[in-house]
Amino acid sequence: MTTKAFVIGHPIAHSRSPLIHGTWIAQHGLDASYEAIDVAPAALPAFFDRLRTGEFSGGNVTIPHKEAVFALCDSVDPLATSIGAVNTLVVQGGQVHGTNTDYLGFLGNLDAAAPGWSTGLETAIVLGAGGAARAILVALQSRNIGPIVLLNRTRETAEKLAAEMAGPISVASLDDFNAVAPLARLVVNTSSIGMHGTRFEGLDLACLPPDALVTDIVYAPLETPLLADAKSRGLKTVDGLGMLLHQAVPGFAAWFGVRPEVDQALYAKVEATLRH
Ligand code: NAP
Repeated sequence: MTTKAFVIGHPIAHSRSPLIHGTWIAQHGLDASYEAIDVAPAALPAFFDRLRTGEFSGGNVTIPHKEAVFALCDSVDPLATSIGAVNTLVVQGGQVHGTNTDYLGFLGNLDAAAPGWSTGLETAIVLGAGGAARAILVALQSRNIGPIVLLNRTRETAEKLAAEMAGPISVASLDDFNAVAPLARLVVNTSSIGMHGTRFEGLDLACLPPDALVTDIVYAPLETPLLADAKSRGLKTVDGLGMLLHQAVPGFAAWFGVRPEVDQALYAKVEATLRH
């Protein structure tokens, strides 16, 4: 019998997940399918009833459902609870279990693109304090990175987030970047600045140490203005597409029983879809 998985969102047509999982299904010759399903918020409870029938072995959850599915899952692991969002569902014995693989995707991407990046790393700057920032903070803390300086346009949002997280996280505004930068060997942009080529004003990357790594989780465009600026100054950079690919690995392994590889061919295939 065909093993089925899905991604739900609203809208969902833009999702690259069917391409990623479809490529791995074909690569491993599996009797499996992965489909994008548009589920409006009001239809979410009925979709969970359908899940409990065992039609699917699991799937991904994207905007706007990552928080709403919490209340519908039969169990959610502590990690997803601390991140405050579920992006992966696994169905077993008529029960729906929720987890979050974004933090693994972030770490997997950096481990592959910049091996040893976290060794001896102390101060890191995180730009943005939205939904994605939580997963990044959990990921950095899992590698004992700190102190972390959280810079956000709306300071109160960052203060609220820092208060909800454990560990040494200090909060400042984006205008404070140049003052904090000399101590930071890692800069992570988790804000939506960079999408469609938008840029930060007033961040002087020349203030960073010369061995600093700059990474952006925004992947459309692949080279954001922040990464272009960092590259032109000779800093190490890692783009956000790898995070999208690596976060897909644990879900695929759980649903289909095979652990797929993130390779250059997959990266190139998905990258090609970002150009139009
Ligand atoms: P979100 O919850 O809407 O948060 C947006 C963040 O961006 C907030 O901190 C917001 O600051 C900031 N921001 C928005 N417009 C700004 C502006 N004009 N100037 C300064 N700051 C601004 O979004 P999210 O879910 O965290 O996602 C953020 C980005 O990460 C998106 O581009 C998303 O595609 C990307 N992402 C990538 C991956 C991946 O796998 N690579 C995974 C998840 C997300 P305020 O608090 O001031 O509003």
